Amino acid sequence: MSLPPSQTVAKKPLFPLGIPLAEMHVHISLALVQRLYFQRLAEGRITSDKDFTRDKGQRYYPDLTAFHNTYEAARGLTATPEELRIVTQGYLEYIAAEGCVYAEISNSYRAGDAFTAQMEALEQAIDEARATSGIEARIMVTTLRNAGYEQAEEAATALVKAAQKHRYITGFGLVGDESVDSLLTYRRALDIAWNDAGLGISPHVGEQLVQNAVDFLDIIPAGALDVKEGDMRRIRGGHGILIHTSSELMDEYAQKGICLELPISAHKRIGIPAQTRGLRIGDTVTGQSGKSYTLDQPLRLYYNRIEDHPLTQLHARGIKLCLGSDNPLLMNTSIGKEYSLAILAGFPRAADVIEFTLNALRSANLDQVTRKRLITRVEAQKQAFAPVAQASVPEIPDGPA
Ligand SMILES: [Zn+2]
Repeated sequence: MSLPPSQTVAKKPLFPLGIPLAEMHVHISLALVQRLYFQRLAEGRITSDKDFTRDKGQRYYPDLTAFHNTYEAARGLTATPEELRIVTQGYLEYIAAEGCVYAEISNSYRAGDAFTAQMEALEQAIDEARATSGIEARIMVTTLRNAGYEQAEEAATALVKAAQKHRYITGFGLVGDESVDSLLTYRRALDIAWNDAGLGISPHVGEQLVQNAVDFLDIIPAGALDVKEGDMRRIRGGHGILIHTSSELMDEYAQKGICLELPISAHKRIGIPAQTRGLRIGDTVTGQSGKSYTLDQPLRLYYNRIEDHPLTQLHARGIKLCLGSDNPLLMNTSIGKEYSLAILAGFPRAADVIEFTLNALRSANLDQVTRKRLITRVEAQKQAFAPVAQASVPEIPDGPA
């Protein structure tokens, strides 16, 4: 029997109280906290099954298409700039209470006044959340691969002006189906975003297809992997999880210092395509530019099995990692839960957990003053947690949904 919402009980986190967290991958418009979700549900604002948050199986998706269908059904939960402000502030305050000190939140680009209104709503939410909880946040503007590279170029060009006007826009990202087109066609969009708009870059890569993570290496803007200390911009990869199948590819990401944002729940809850599931050791993946990588590591079938997640494998290869919740409502998570999952995936020591936060801050799209302030604070906390050898609370927390 499922519990009514007032009786759902949040479980305790696996990390010691006071650990500083960073949220580096969240699509903010549907990041409704539980109370707000049930309020919207009562208003008849979602077309999916009403037992969606109570029936465990409903927030697991066989593939990306099933997930996108649910996302589309839930889209009406946040319909106006004012609602976007409420959702954003609510989520930022929720994760601040979990210990989060910094969040980079994603919102999709749209043309015209609607975009301006959304950015103003996000700015207001960030300011309010900072005032009430101390959390710091910045905005990453994304465009959908399914809408094509032309829209990405249009967005990047619009951001040249918009990023001047809206001071919290510091990043540009690509989302959506990795199989619809070639990532190489987005080279110009990324160049405009990096060089003209002055934004950091983080496309979704290698979540569904290895080749996507290979192609990304070919379109990183010149000089972007060698930024000066005071530069606000960074290059990160959203997910990048499938590079674990190739030692050579992992080494390239490690050597280039590209930080991967790993939303563990997303990897547990969305199935990977048959094309990827069929990969075997010895197979070759060739990027569009012709460079080939031979797969020499077994594909980890981490769908629904946290112990199979390649988090420790990527870490051992020297790749910088940070964490994200991706879609908190649709995946029953929050950044606090993602840190707990990282512990279950093989990082039991507090010092290791804090390293995710330091990686996040070093790879954040953030002005030098704020970056230094946050890193100094987190490093001091890391010292305080040095004697804590083992996290010990044997439960995973529920997310905000
Ligand atoms: Zn995402």
